Formats: sequence, C-alpha cells, structure tokens
Amino acid sequence: MKAKVLLFLLIASLLIGSLVVHANEISSKDVKEESQLKQERKNLQDKLPQLQGGTEKSERNRQQPLTLYDLQKKYPETVILHGPSTAKKIALTFDDGPDPRFTGQVLDVLKQYNVPATFFLMGSRANAYPDIVKRINKEGHIIGNHSYWHPNLVEEADIGTLEREISQTEETLNKIIGYRPKLFRPPYGFLYEALVEYLAKKEFNVILWTVDSLDWQEDPPEKIANKVIKETHPGAIILMHDGGEWDADRTNTIESLRQIIPELQKEGYEFVTVPQLVNIPYKK
Ligand SMILES: [Zn+2]
Repeated sequence: MKAKVLLFLLIASLLIGSLVVHANEISSKDVKEESQLKQERKNLQDKLPQLQGGTEKSERNRQQPLTLYDLQKKYPETVILHGPSTAKKIALTFDDGPDPRFTGQVLDVLKQYNVPATFFLMGSRANAYPDIVKRINKEGHIIGNHSYWHPNLVEEADIGTLEREISQTEETLNKIIGYRPKLFRPPYGFLYEALVEYLAKKEFNVILWTVDSLDWQEDPPEKIANKVIKETHPGAIILMHDGGEWDADRTNTIESLRQIIPELQKEGYEFVTVPQLVNIPYKK
C-alpha cells in the first residue's frame, strides 16, 4: 500500500515537473516574441516623428474656436473648403505622412487606378523619410505643408510657433523636391483668425475639406468607403490619412480606396489634385 502511494506521488511529481518546464518554455517564448515586438515598436517610435499635439482621437474632440465654414466666409481668398460645384471633379487628400508603413501602399493603389492626389506632409517625417517624399513627387502627386511636429496651433496660440513650424517644413520640402508648397493644412484643422491672416501674408492657401472620412477611427474599409461615397459631391475635397501615430494602422484606409476610387469613377467623378480642382498654383 505504502509503495503504491509512493509510486503515485512519484508519477504526480514527474507530471507536475514536466508541466512546469513546458509552461516555462511557453512563457519564455512569449516573452521573447513580445520583447522582440516591443523592440520593433520602439525602433519605429524612435524614428517616426510623432504628432506633437496628440493623437487625432484625443484632439479632434476638442472645441474649435471658429468653425471652418466661418473662417472660409471671412477669408475666402485664403481658406478653401472645396472646389466649384459645376463640374464632377474631386480631390483626394492624405495627411500626416510620409509614413514608412503606409504611404507606399497608398501610392501603389493610386498608381493602379492612375489617380492623382494631394499629400500634406509633416516636415519632421519628410526629413526622416525623404525617399518617400521623392516618390510622391515623382508619381505626379502634389505636396502641401502640414507643419513640422503637428502641434495643436490653437492650444499653442502663438504666431512664433506657427512661423517656425511652417518655415522648417518649407525648407525641408524644398531641399527634397525643389519647391515651396503653396498649400497648407493646419494640424487637426485647427485655426483662428490671426493664424489665417499670417498664412495669407505668407502667400499660403489653407486647404480644408468637405468630406471627412474619419479613417483615423480605423473602422472597417466598407464603412470608411460608404461614408466617403455617400458624402462626395462635385468639387469635394476628401480628407484621409496615409500616416499616423506609431501604433496607428492605416490598412483599412488603403483597402477603402479600392472601393472609393472605382465607385466614384463609375458615378462619373474625375479625381484631380487640389490645385487643379480650385485652379491655384501648387508652389510659391
Ligand atoms: Zn494631421
């Protein structure tokens, strides 16, 4: 009897022992994979300049001092919301790039459908990834200024910040593509009168939008596409994002383009760049 108990204990302890060893193997493998993943993320986080004013998610919900519509009415020569409604022409715009994860894929889709677009680039990211900027330019798309670090210009509320952000981006882009963009899009679309007046003095056109894809919410591609297709009108400027925070994913944006472009073309729309749509120069 005693021997049986001993044998049972021996078998039980062997079983438990092997389980523990196995569990250790699994968790050490997990830890290894996780730490590798963490390292990869950290590398991206170190290299990819982040949006200084915070994520789209947190910032977009804040109050806007004057609506974009009010600003457009007050400064019609400078602030542009859309093109003429007399022709079925529309413009796709992409913000927050160049992004090494997603911009290339967006360019591939645009090339596939032979459609031009307008990219509002962050100076810090252009500086980090000049080859992507060159590719955007080479493939016939137009580049605009989207500030250097993507600050919240309403919160920072001083012209000095705007001036630095703009001129640094302008210099960076000029070095890479050989022109100073005339188009500016404020981070988060945040503006107030003094900023618009400064931008007007610096010969910028402020390019806003009438169709907001809200793609930064990372909804399924069908949902993004349906929203854009439903809201598009002659002269529309469509807001999308090829770049994002280090943990953002623009895969759904890219997929949605494969639905948006052919569907709107079927409806008779022609895709053009923003300067073509509103008939303004793209460089200073
Ligand atoms: Zn942005």
